[in-house]
Amino acid sequence: MLTESEKTQIREVLEGAKKRLARTGQHALSYSMNHERNIGRDSIDESMEEEIFSTEMRLHDREKFLFSKIDKQLARLDNDSIDTCESCGETISFKRLLARPVTTLCIDCKEQHEREEAAVEQAGRGGALDTSAGEEIGGGGAGATSEE
Ligand SMILES: [Zn+2]
Repeated sequence: MLTESEKTQIREVLEGAKKRLARTGQHALSYSMNHERNIGRDSIDESMEEEIFSTEMRLHDREKFLFSKIDKQLARLDNDSIDTCESCGETISFKRLLARPVTTLCIDCKEQHEREEAAVEQAGRGGALDTSAGEEIGGGGAGATSEE
């Protein structure tokens, strides 16, 4: 269980992260509006602008994802479950929460999770490599050379 002052610290970190995200989110939105205004102009290389635009949108998706994670953590903070591991129910240390405020797993579960992800990745990459190496049929030449 976290103390009140620890909870306050975590809340400040989460609220701060949310504010930063809100600012960059607005940036992405204003960019997309400018983008629409700029249609028809040929001063900027179109394909390059498209690329910037799609990058912005990808970032925006990531922001939304992070936003939902932060909201979830604030809810967990409100009902005093923020320091409980979602997977095993063990206590997540205050130090870990402060360093990774959106984490919902204890360090052990997190490491296990990462190992599993790595294993899945490897299984996906390594196809069934059936290298049936051709067995060479060696025909030994019987050279009977007799000299008289
Ligand atoms: Zn755990």
